[in-house]
Amino acid sequence: MTIESTAQAAYLVAALLFILALAGLSKHESAKLGNTYGIAGMAVALVATVALAIDRGIEAIGLILLGVAMVVGAGIGLWRARRVEMTGMPELIALLHSFVGLAAVLVGWNGYLLVEGGADPAEAALLEAQGTLGIHHAEVFIGVFIGAVTFTGSIVAYLKLSAKISSAPLMLPGKNALNIGALVAFFALTVWFVIDPQLWLLAVVTALALLLGWHLVASIGGGDMPVVVSMLNSYSGWAAAASGFLLENDLLIITGALVGSSGAYLSYIMCRAMNRSFISVIAGGFGIEAPSGDDTDYGEHREVNAEQVAELLTSARSVIITPGYGMAVAQAQYGVAELTRKLREAGVEVRFGIHPVAGRLPGHMNVLLAEAKVPYDIVLEMDEINEDFPDTDVVLVIGANDTVNPAAEDDPTSPIAGMPVLRVWEADNVIIFKRSMASGYAGVQNPLFFRENSAMLFGDAKDRVEDILRVL
Ligand code: NDP
Repeated sequence: MTIESTAQAAYLVAALLFILALAGLSKHESAKLGNTYGIAGMAVALVATVALAIDRGIEAIGLILLGVAMVVGAGIGLWRARRVEMTGMPELIALLHSFVGLAAVLVGWNGYLLVEGGADPAEAALLEAQGTLGIHHAEVFIGVFIGAVTFTGSIVAYLKLSAKISSAPLMLPGKNALNIGALVAFFALTVWFVIDPQLWLLAVVTALALLLGWHLVASIGGGDMPVVVSMLNSYSGWAAAASGFLLENDLLIITGALVGSSGAYLSYIMCRAMNRSFISVIAGGFGIEAPSGDDTDYGEHREVNAEQVAELLTSARSVIITPGYGMAVAQAQYGVAELTRKLREAGVEVRFGIHPVAGRLPGHMNVLLAEAKVPYDIVLEMDEINEDFPDTDVVLVIGANDTVNPAAEDDPTSPIAGMPVLRVWEADNVIIFKRSMASGYAGVQNPLFFRENSAMLFGDAKDRVEDILRVL
């Protein structure tokens, strides 16, 4: 068997491993295994690519550059992945997507310089003979466009998420017309380039796409940024697939398509869970910032202390914990896991209700709870547990806010109206762990806090959980 065919077989194996990785990552029981499949797939792909490059006669300098790039890339990857906080994950992902976008732009430009630019006349002649030269022009142009949109879009998303620039949406006059105009110009330029592949056309589309990527994401408010990151994830997949066509690399096409479609599907799930229109997200159109409060008088709220909560818990038969972003910020999951263990030992039924967008990315809470070794079988999705609140004695809302807001169901004028929420208020007692009466991510007040069966336990969630543990 030649190196060429062995490498192609290895690519097939790697593609299968990537599919297994995605399948594994879809359930928390198998997520670790899924990750291992992904690592194995990438290792196989890297070895096969290097072997193929050597077989095709790569020059020594090329091989050295390849080695250096791999070491530097792996070093940066390890360093960032070790240091990143769970809450900083979306911005890290945004930054990584910008690299994929940049790579796609460079691959496209390289393809142009080799074939259309005349640096590799043999390749150009071969494509000409196969009658696929026109397809090559289109691949270069489309790849550069998607890559450049992803590049600047991801940089803006990173800057907004890490609060390096204001997260308020940029409202240029006629912003939709600008976006549509840019797309129309792109289609017209693509036709022109396929007929007459001029360098200046490629330069114009690169600049146009860089501006479009910037504008698309800048027009979206910080609140919707996690959906945008997931959408950029999808774009980066399509950019990689476009590079795969250019480089005639089947694995890159398959992997790009996997990333592209799974990213789009994830965005769709997030939009559905937040009651947002999927189409307007992809169009970069909906930068509606939620109002930062309203004048409605909700009445008085009630406060409790850790002793009272401990007492309530020990006399309860069933408890549901609904965690949110605040649990992640406070890193309260270990205390929560310990509290769960103690209560279960005392014969109390404890379960978790997880909203699909609790925290800052889907699965955020599941990861934290798994990290703290909470048994999977008591961690339920919103739809699995929402009917059970009326039969529940105590609900502990730990750092969650928007995901338990009754206004989503009761108030059609609320910015989160229509978003499915955990119906915690149907339980006998609701204890809300947070530091103040401040609003949640969507910036809307939560009438739950003022209900008769609700009580606030103020302070850092981790400290308060530890206080309860001490009393128990
Ligand atoms: P929210 O972001 O609505 O609220 C979190 C609450 O935690 C705040 O009210 C805050 O109140 C409290 N908090 C913060 N730090 C602490 C702390 N150290 N100790 C105790 N409490 C703390 O949380 P949810 O998880 O309910 O909602 C997620 C939001 O994110 C939704 O609006 C969702 O649409 C949005 N979103 C989620 C995505 C996802 O995929 N998961 C994607 C995009 C958006 P205080 O400051 O008073 O302490």
